[in-house]
Amino acid sequence: RYPHLLSPLKIGNVTVRNRLMQTAHAKGFHAGNGLTNDRDIYYQAERAKGGIGLIVTGARHTHPHSTGPGRTLARGNREEIIERDREMCQAVQAQGGRIVAQLIHFGPQGRSGALDDYRVLWAPSTMKSPAYNEWAKEMTKAEMDEVSENFALTARYSKEAGFDGVELHYSHGYLHQQFLSFVYNKRTDEYGGSLENIVRFPIETLQRVRDEVGPDFMVGIRVSMDECTVDGMHADQAIEMTRLMVRTGLVDYVSATAGTYAAHADQIPPGDYPENWLVKDGARMRQAIREEADIPMFIVGHIVDPEAADQLVANGAADMVAMTRTQIADPEFANKLRDGREDEINHCIRCNQACIARLMVGNAISCVVNPAAGRERRFGAHTLMAATTPAHWLVIGGGPAGMKAALVLRQRGHRVTLVEAGDRLGGQLNLAARLPRREKFGFLPRDLERQLRKAGVEIRLNTRLDADQVAAFGADGVIVATGSRPLKTGFTSTRPAVDRVPGLDQDNVLSVVEVLENPDAVGRRVVLFDEDGGRYALGTAEFLLDRGHEVHLVSRFNALSPNLALTLDLPVNYRHVFEKGLEYTINSWVRSVDGQRAQLFNLFTDKNSQVLEADTFVIAAGHAAENTLYQSLQDRVSNLHCIGDALLPRPLQDVIYEGMLAGREMLN
Ligand code: SF4
Repeated sequence: RYPHLLSPLKIGNVTVRNRLMQTAHAKGFHAGNGLTNDRDIYYQAERAKGGIGLIVTGARHTHPHSTGPGRTLARGNREEIIERDREMCQAVQAQGGRIVAQLIHFGPQGRSGALDDYRVLWAPSTMKSPAYNEWAKEMTKAEMDEVSENFALTARYSKEAGFDGVELHYSHGYLHQQFLSFVYNKRTDEYGGSLENIVRFPIETLQRVRDEVGPDFMVGIRVSMDECTVDGMHADQAIEMTRLMVRTGLVDYVSATAGTYAAHADQIPPGDYPENWLVKDGARMRQAIREEADIPMFIVGHIVDPEAADQLVANGAADMVAMTRTQIADPEFANKLRDGREDEINHCIRCNQACIARLMVGNAISCVVNPAAGRERRFGAHTLMAATTPAHWLVIGGGPAGMKAALVLRQRGHRVTLVEAGDRLGGQLNLAARLPRREKFGFLPRDLERQLRKAGVEIRLNTRLDADQVAAFGADGVIVATGSRPLKTGFTSTRPAVDRVPGLDQDNVLSVVEVLENPDAVGRRVVLFDEDGGRYALGTAEFLLDRGHEVHLVSRFNALSPNLALTLDLPVNYRHVFEKGLEYTINSWVRSVDGQRAQLFNLFTDKNSQVLEADTFVIAAGHAAENTLYQSLQDRVSNLHCIGDALLPRPLQDVIYEGMLAGREMLN
């Protein structure tokens, strides 16, 4: 299978073993010194070992005025980086992979104060940055030359370190891409105003890099095919300017992408973005490149199906396919395709919650479905130790934490029995997957169940054990992962008025879980109280709107997505919820519910505000640990553990991490 996707590709003088690649992505691994470290090396080596063809490093700064979020990127223009980069290159190449260093100047998308000293931001024209709302100054010709020289210097260091090539980042709204954009480039000199002029600076940088590294070293460019803003650059222009850059003969490959910080959802699309959304314009760009030079083109854009990827290579729409989040979720993706082990793949659920959202709040990336991601030194495949004393473990609860713990215990050689009270595995993930445009959340329980069955875990559904039965079971160890139950009252606030709302015990007040389990119980008019921060509430609101209900959402927060990270970790684009007619009130909470009337009050003034009428009230107020069984087992069984929501309800990434940890580090 996949004969085209898994066939080798020659790029310049380098042969890559297959057409699967991982694009540059910030990982937040750097401890502030900007040097490659063990975490980087283990992360990349794990993916090379898993069979990927080409890895492009995270972008590396090339110049002191390229400031970005200071602690997330390497500084490729520091000579000290060569030594550890050499280790990274060797680690990847020893596994048969190829690795390219991506070079960047952040330009106006930097942060002037990100480093210890202040650096004014540089841009093609004086402008306010769409990224961090800072002013950036128009560059002089001397400054442009300096940037090109620094790209060349960084390329030299990259070559010395043993990289297979360098990629110049000319996309996503960074410095060179802004030169290529008529929205940002307002220059009246020879660097602005026409297609020939806007490519001049990117070509000058290319020329300096090529002069430095010579003809035999791979040099690629990453270009945006579309700025994804109303007045921004679109595919026709992108194709023509790429044509001009390729025509110089300086380029060994083109990696096509889209989006800028001004249209972030397009740069890092949420899960409901159409699959293969760039392929159509990409095929046009591929053709234009072919007319100019015999070099390959790479494509990205929510490509998740290997059949589709194989087809687009077969059709000549692209020569290499970037599936980056797929690789984060499963570093062994390529080998599993090659070996016919697709039933073992951990599919990315497009949640954006542990990769991008963690990065946005200053943490290193990881992955919801693969908590070892970013932690390969401690949890990589090579670290899984067989149990010294294989034992029989009983895992109670088939939600994500229990499933993960059961699988890892089994992989280590234990006998494992997994019992689940319900009629299917997956717990609340099955409900989350019912929310509109989140069906990919269902991949996770499906993948885990497949692997559990294949590994030989004994699964007993519809089995609710009480304490006596657990004690009589006679397992060597017991893990309780009984999950959580939804709350119907607020619990995070210290304000009694918020915590104890009269009337929330009425029959016409339902939790989000109750709504998803039994939507027919919901009346036509709904008021939804969001005490939990937006995510579940907005998804439930859309679920109800789709079923024809009128929905008014009342939020305690001053925005419907109060967490900064939610701008990126939302797995779907919530614009659609508002287009479907959601009414909402923010900064407010409910004073009381009486029959079909809810009295709201303003959280700033504490004064009563509007009265809302509804047939059903729904409350999204978080969850409480369901740990009754665990409590009753204390002192009755030895080697007893409690994990996941049963210990403390937390985001999905945390409970799966805990399941992995339990499986790896439990006694025995
Ligand atoms: Fe995919 Fe979510 Fe993992 Fe990111 S955290 S790679 S979106 S599964």
